[in-house]
Amino acid sequence: MSDIISILPDSVANQIAAGEVVDRPASAVKELLENALDAGATEVKLVVKDAGRALLQVIDNGCGMSDSDARLCFERHATSKIKKADDLFAIQTMGFRGEALASIAAIAQVELHSRMHDSELGTEVVIEGSEIRSQTTCCCPPGTSIAVKNLFFNVPARRNFLKKESIELSHIEEIFRRVALVNCDVGFQFYNNGKMLYDLRAGNFAERISQMMGHNAPERLLPVEEETDVVRIRGYVGKPEFARKNRGEQYLFVNHRFVKHPLFSAAVEKAYTDLIPDRYYPSYFVQLDLDPSRIDINIHPTKTEVKFIDEQALFAIIRSAAKRALGQFCLATELEFNPCTDLDLSPAPKGYVPRQPEVKYTPGYSPFADPATGGGSGRTGTGSGSGPGGTSMASGGSAASKWTSFFDIGTEVEKAAPAPTLIPLDDEAAAPRTDSPARCLQLQNRYIVSTLPSGLLVVDQQAAHERILFERLSAHKSAAAAQQLLFPVNCQFSPADADIFSELLPDLKKHGFEIGSLGQTTFVISATPPDVKEGDLQQLFDQMLADYKCSMLQKFSDRNQCLCRTLAKQMSVRPGTPLQQEEMQQMVADLFCCQAPAVSPSGRKVMAIIPPDQLL
Ligand code: ADP
Ligand code: MG
Repeated sequence: MSDIISILPDSVANQIAAGEVVDRPASAVKELLENALDAGATEVKLVVKDAGRALLQVIDNGCGMSDSDARLCFERHATSKIKKADDLFAIQTMGFRGEALASIAAIAQVELHSRMHDSELGTEVVIEGSEIRSQTTCCCPPGTSIAVKNLFFNVPARRNFLKKESIELSHIEEIFRRVALVNCDVGFQFYNNGKMLYDLRAGNFAERISQMMGHNAPERLLPVEEETDVVRIRGYVGKPEFARKNRGEQYLFVNHRFVKHPLFSAAVEKAYTDLIPDRYYPSYFVQLDLDPSRIDINIHPTKTEVKFIDEQALFAIIRSAAKRALGQFCLATELEFNPCTDLDLSPAPKGYVPRQPEVKYTPGYSPFADPATGGGSGRTGTGSGSGPGGTSMASGGSAASKWTSFFDIGTEVEKAAPAPTLIPLDDEAAAPRTDSPARCLQLQNRYIVSTLPSGLLVVDQQAAHERILFERLSAHKSAAAAQQLLFPVNCQFSPADADIFSELLPDLKKHGFEIGSLGQTTFVISATPPDVKEGDLQQLFDQMLADYKCSMLQKFSDRNQCLCRTLAKQMSVRPGTPLQQEEMQQMVADLFCCQAPAVSPSGRKVMAIIPPDQLL
């Protein structure tokens, strides 16, 4: 049989390889943008026509290329970024494979203009389907412009496979965001069909996020900062109440490179357990900087995947950094709450001279000392006449009477020297100054309205109650108080639900329920936790089981936490329930004793604080 193996011509090999690197316009954009950044550009312009089918162009003011480099850069494995295998372990650039331009040139018509900063003239290279058509000297600004026209012109199958314009454009936009977000010290412009979509000036990371994600971004985000021997973490995580139904706003960058890493998403998401509802995802913009030798970014041609040496340690560090950011946010809200102590602090009236309080005491007095033994010999009253101790001792009463007299001292002292009181300016402030909590109003039987030093407080009563109950239930290590029912209640479930309910019995008992079983599917409830209002227990458990099943489907769900969450939700006071003044005050006070008062365990916003300057 004759030989049948032959080496593929370069153009075919390049076309095959190109599929690996450039599968749609967005991947060509990624390569061109990364090249511009590797070239040290401080200004980068992306120009797109017909979502990249007609034109993709990246213009930069980077280092530019010499005449021969401008030609060589289209060869496969032509790179200026690594020289030897060892360099692979210390990569600082975005590219290093030397395949991107070769791949793009294999499947498009490419025009390159490039000029080095110390050259007077630049060079123009035209290449089409891996064939150099021309190279000429030209006038152009310093830097490089690469225009990619008619992508996939020679691979019709792929061209036909492209999605409609809006989809391809959204892929390009996402790539642009990933690159521009983390390179905040570089200015970027993005034009589509002649219309400017982004004009990003160089700034810091927070500014870039705002420019890119909208100006309310700073209100939605909390800073994360952590530095250990292994990694430096910085960036922002979203406040729980701004969690989204998809993972669209999750950006993790490792050494300036956007990466996808399910474990790290999980690490951040784990920090939000019980702060956001099921199937909602936090936003984050997090940068990790670590020694390049501790990561391997070489495992996927499009390089959005990454492998770490210290995966477990990093997971823990990221989770705790995110937790700390969230904790500080919750704590900040908690510290804010100080029921109006300064609101009724009226200024002292003109001419008021504060008087130092006079304190009467009897040095050396002991209620146990026997007057006969001289224990009270040194007793003298200070100020006006003899003190009450002296009086009682002189009367030679029993030990019990001495105690009574001793405690009388306080009254006497108060009588003798009343504490200075400030004269109030208005009626409301005229209320006696005690540490009593601020008054509350109920709005639509749904919101509690009160005041804080920093503004008007509006609390969603159900969400607040849910948070309070959840933290109380989660804190139960041993059996909680149970309240006996006058008439035990029977509850019945489907066989599958009855199985789950039986499994939950020990936990329910811990939370204060007393439940016995009557056959396979019927249970008798004889006591409930005091927080459970009398009502339909069957409905409470049905809902609880439905919620519980849903939350258990979530990854990382802990059984007891799920139960606490669902119980808290079912036991919480419903909107439309009128509350008494004391109940509202108690709820506000309890809420601010919670670890995370700002959001309910099912992720709803619990409160708003409206600063006075935003009231009108
Ligand atoms: P890689 O980036 O992996 O090295 P590429 O095919 O993307 O491979 O680019 C090949 C080479 O061309 C780069 O190593 C670089 O030297 C040069 N190059 C590409 N784009 C630019 C640019 N915008 N400015 C300056 N040099 C560039
Ligand atoms: Mg490259």
